[in-house]
Amino acid sequence: MSIRTRFAPSPTGYMHIGNLRTALWAYLIAKKDPEGVFILRIEDTDQGRLVEGATDIIYDTMRECGLKHDEGPDVGGPVGPYVQSERVRSGLYMDYAKKLIRLGGAHYCFCDEKTIEQAKAAKDVTDGNRSYDDPCRLLDPEEAERRAESGEPFVIRQTIPSEGTTSFDDEVFGTITVDNSTLDEQVLIKSDGFPTYNFANVIDDHLMGITDVVRGMEYLSSTPKYNLIYDAFGWDKPRYIHCPPVMKDEHSKLSKRNGDASFQDLMKKGYLPEAVLNYIAMLGWSPENNQEIFTLDELVKAFNVKHIGQNGAIFDPVKLTSINGLWLRGMDPESYFQLVEPYIREAVKKDYDLRKIASGVQQRANTLVEIPPMLDFYDTFPAYSNDLYFNKKMKTNPEISLVSLKECLTALLNLNDWSFDALHETLMALPAKMGIKNGQVLFPLRVAISGKQSTPGGAIEIAEILGKEETLRRLKSSIQQLENQ
Ligand code: GLU
Repeated sequence: MSIRTRFAPSPTGYMHIGNLRTALWAYLIAKKDPEGVFILRIEDTDQGRLVEGATDIIYDTMRECGLKHDEGPDVGGPVGPYVQSERVRSGLYMDYAKKLIRLGGAHYCFCDEKTIEQAKAAKDVTDGNRSYDDPCRLLDPEEAERRAESGEPFVIRQTIPSEGTTSFDDEVFGTITVDNSTLDEQVLIKSDGFPTYNFANVIDDHLMGITDVVRGMEYLSSTPKYNLIYDAFGWDKPRYIHCPPVMKDEHSKLSKRNGDASFQDLMKKGYLPEAVLNYIAMLGWSPENNQEIFTLDELVKAFNVKHIGQNGAIFDPVKLTSINGLWLRGMDPESYFQLVEPYIREAVKKDYDLRKIASGVQQRANTLVEIPPMLDFYDTFPAYSNDLYFNKKMKTNPEISLVSLKECLTALLNLNDWSFDALHETLMALPAKMGIKNGQVLFPLRVAISGKQSTPGGAIEIAEILGKEETLRRLKSSIQQLENQ
């Protein structure tokens, strides 16, 4: 039997990084099997939590990340519809709930939801008692059915044996065993006729032939209840892979509220989708070797459920930034240029060779949003302090710099071929001639023509891009500034 996994987001807003990681792992698990199928199912039965446009965010994110689903609302498939609210309309959940009642796995309840919630809250579950035993389960089933049929408002609740235990094997958390007496008789069909997540997920996973359920570990404690439903119907149960949470730090989860938890926020901060996927794949999973950079295809090959840990994984923006930098530096120059051109244009409006600027940037920028501030010196030569000429590593100070810069000026004034090679040859001849180190010429020159301590690209690259006239203008003004000191 081939593997079938699903990603089942609720369209409640942004794509949380923890959810995206769940989607990714579900994708990887499916795609490891050459016949495997990855399904997208939209879980929108909680109508009160729906957010306009949220479904588009889900589609867009999946597309940008290259997590292509084989079946789903937009691409169709043999076991649709793939949107839960559309499934509700066909009455299928109600039909299955009634069937479950006949099988002894559920019962009608005539309390309203508010009363149920209050009773649940009032019960002390710490002493091992069931959190809420429904008195309606004692009603005569025929009598209950008659009342429901006659139009009296009802909900349908799960019937759970008060004795015994329920066990299941989770691929990450191992064997979990719970006393049935601790499981509450949860609502399966609400009074508005809609199924709860707790019911719909079981029915849909079964009807969609899901073999591997991949989801957040907040569902771990409810899974015994789901398995009791599978058992009551006599259905095969899926494998379970409950994922440890993605944490902000040791104590708190990444939350939608603090602005750094969604895929969209990371895109705004200048990360690449490939790098984000690469990084989040490893939040809670570790590859067998020390490989750090993975394409999606490489992740499919390397991923192994056995190496998912049980502990929450901390989302480290510094690590993400460094992985993003490696991805950016690994791009071929032309694709890189296409990607960064708008960011370069933000800072550079004058007519410089943007491809040459991009090649300097590629060696240095770790995120896209870092790019414009790095390049501000091209359009306007900034005011700067002569202190920039002090550099321990380069063994420079303002005095040595002044001597070097004057030599540079003389050499460059006579240079007519302003190509990189010619500039290189001319400038690299100076240190030897003066009996000083390369850095004692090139570092001051870079400061003198950029006004900055660090720049993407060295003195020669920058001089070439600025052109002769602008380079000499800046160089002369910097020499003047040193002489005035
Ligand atoms: N709709 C649920 C959620 O977004 C899905 C849980 C599951 O994958 O079963 O949390």
